[in-house]
Amino acid sequence: MSSKSNGATNEIKFTKLFINGQFVDSLLGKTFETTNPTTEEIITRVAEGTKEDVDLAVKAARNAFDHGPWPRLSGQARRKILLKFADLIEENVEELATLDVIDGGKPISLSRSLEIPTVVELFRYYAGAADKIHGTTLKMSTSIHAYTLREPIGVVGHIIPWNFPSQGFAMKVAPALAVGCTMVVKPSEQTPLSALFYAHLSKLAGIPDGVINIVNGFGETAGAAISSHMDIDTVSFTGSMEVGRLVMQAAATSNLKPVLLELGGKSPFIVFDDADFDKAIDLAIYGNFINKGEICVAGSRVFVQEGIHDAFVNKLAEKTKDWTIGDLFDPTTRHGPQSNKQQYEKVLSLIEHGKKEGATLLIGGRPFGKKGYYIEPTIFTDVTDDMIIAKEEIFGPVISVLKFKTIDEVIKRANATKYGLAAGVMTKNIDIANTVSRSIRAGAVWVNCFLALDKDAPHGGYKMSGFGKESGIEGLDHYLHVKTVATPIYDSPW
Ligand code: NAD
Repeated sequence: MSSKSNGATNEIKFTKLFINGQFVDSLLGKTFETTNPTTEEIITRVAEGTKEDVDLAVKAARNAFDHGPWPRLSGQARRKILLKFADLIEENVEELATLDVIDGGKPISLSRSLEIPTVVELFRYYAGAADKIHGTTLKMSTSIHAYTLREPIGVVGHIIPWNFPSQGFAMKVAPALAVGCTMVVKPSEQTPLSALFYAHLSKLAGIPDGVINIVNGFGETAGAAISSHMDIDTVSFTGSMEVGRLVMQAAATSNLKPVLLELGGKSPFIVFDDADFDKAIDLAIYGNFINKGEICVAGSRVFVQEGIHDAFVNKLAEKTKDWTIGDLFDPTTRHGPQSNKQQYEKVLSLIEHGKKEGATLLIGGRPFGKKGYYIEPTIFTDVTDDMIIAKEEIFGPVISVLKFKTIDEVIKRANATKYGLAAGVMTKNIDIANTVSRSIRAGAVWVNCFLALDKDAPHGGYKMSGFGKESGIEGLDHYLHVKTVATPIYDSPW
């Protein structure tokens, strides 16, 4: 099957489920359509997994964990295979990037130059970790020799959202593979295509059958079957706060499996009077409009100190006009359509709320073009803390600008949110930078930069943005058990 988008033709090679190393139809023979948000046309139909398929995938993963080679391979052997996997991803960057562009509405520049290269780096990073996973020797208070082992937790259920289908896949799958786990992956029903291509490459790389299983399908069926499964040892979930709660409930009422939750955010981006003005403007735009605002760490509450507020909003509006909307396959395009119709309607409805609540619409606020789920980059000013647009995650290209006077005031207001994913602070004053960094209740604070996400840096939320870390060495922890082994030492002198 092939699909055309903005002049690019792409052959869709993989549309089935991937279970035990084979591409298979779903047991009930169901399929669902996946749509191109640029053209609003159906790209293809994809096999729809349900509980029965999840059961089959879990059986394959369990067998691969209990009896297969993957957890038993040396770290060096797993490293070698993961490096091969990374190389294959790198060789296929164009095809993978194109799949995410047509399925999720991303500009090719973002996909080709940032997201897929990040995937490659994540696999290389965790390949490098595969032979460095070890416990510690313990100094016990009695004559006991004791040490810890770090062992793979078992079968993992990964549930992925649609905003970064490739990066979301790699952040979960790479560390779980590195430690020797096996897994069932459920991509978002909005972006099911690229995960199947990764599955194909994993087989070419030499990852044994049953280690990675992909079950596309809907959240209430396939997703819920994963979080409530009695034979899945842990779930790693990225998505909305509402669904995160359901996942945690299902984990609690089934086999009490631990969960990692990477949820939403409403991050503050705080600009003090003394900040590098032009840089702050650029980062406010980049930190909110990249990936058409479908970014969990978006700095969507832009707090600007009163001394520069008016000049800042004028320049922000002017510079936003350079954020090019257009053909996603043109490397200069920055802005694409919202990933799906539901999200498009949600963002437009929140923009209406902003207008009704009395915020000033500075720029944008309307659909763009005749076709596709495009929304103009939008900026509201005169936003107050109690407005819905200042409280709820919009997950679209919408900035709310809020004015502040003092550091104490802005810290209090920045923290007055149920979320705690990230924050940015722009100032040349080291005391202000340090005070704000330590006072903000969030998993990351970026000082004089924004979106400094990296394979090396642990990522994850405080408060209702979730718990557990992905990326960095900490990104391995969720997939490891720690076992203490102890044995007496008789006549020990210490
Ligand atoms: P979502 O919660 O609707 O869906 C996420 C995944 O959960 C999908 O695969 C979906 O099919 C599945 N799902 C839905 N219902 C389920 C259920 N009852 N049981 C199990 N699984 C179920 O989220 P989304 O709309 O795909 O993604 C957007 C959200 O993700 C935003 O809130 C965003 O902030 C968040 N996000 C967070 C991070 C992070 O790192 N913290 C990263 C990316 C996205």
